[in-house]
Amino acid sequence: MRIPFEQIPAEGLELELTEAGWFPEQELARQGPVRATINLAREPGRLDRVRLRGLLEVDLRLICDRCLDSYPYALAADFQASLEVGAIDDGAAVSDHLCSAEVMETVSLAEPVVDVFDLLAQQLFLSLPLKRLCREECRGLCPRCGADLNEGECGCFRSPGSSPFAVLADLKKR
Ligand SMILES: [Zn+2]
Ligand SMILES: [Zn+2]
Repeated sequence: MRIPFEQIPAEGLELELTEAGWFPEQELARQGPVRATINLAREPGRLDRVRLRGLLEVDLRLICDRCLDSYPYALAADFQASLEVGAIDDGAAVSDHLCSAEVMETVSLAEPVVDVFDLLAQQLFLSLPLKRLCREECRGLCPRCGADLNEGECGCFRSPGSSPFAVLADLKKR
């Protein structure tokens, strides 16, 4: 969905989107619909700048970094940016990232057109948690035998030849 700047009325444009064709289904598993609200506003006196505010909500299934099991994650991202037509030297359509709601980031565009789905896909990836855990106290998999330690001790650490320091090193990693 591409919206040229000149099609944004002076009073602004609010879009309620449930269309999910842009969602990267190959890379992320979702459960249920994608809900997005996008608000576009012209900046008075500026033809080359548009302010964007958005909200993106989708229920995902992520993979836990420790136990490799999938778990539900309700993503709700609030974001805003100033979209500006600017000099692009690397040839990319969008050179900057959107960022979280606290900071107004400037996104350089090659042309005065808002590519809504492209921005939503960017925002989705930026809003994913860096550390993905099914729960804070997830014990993960045994590095030796691969057993899911959430389901009980596998006995590896007590087996002959394994140093008690290996247990400490493993705890430190967590
Ligand atoms: Zn886990
Ligand atoms: Zn084990």
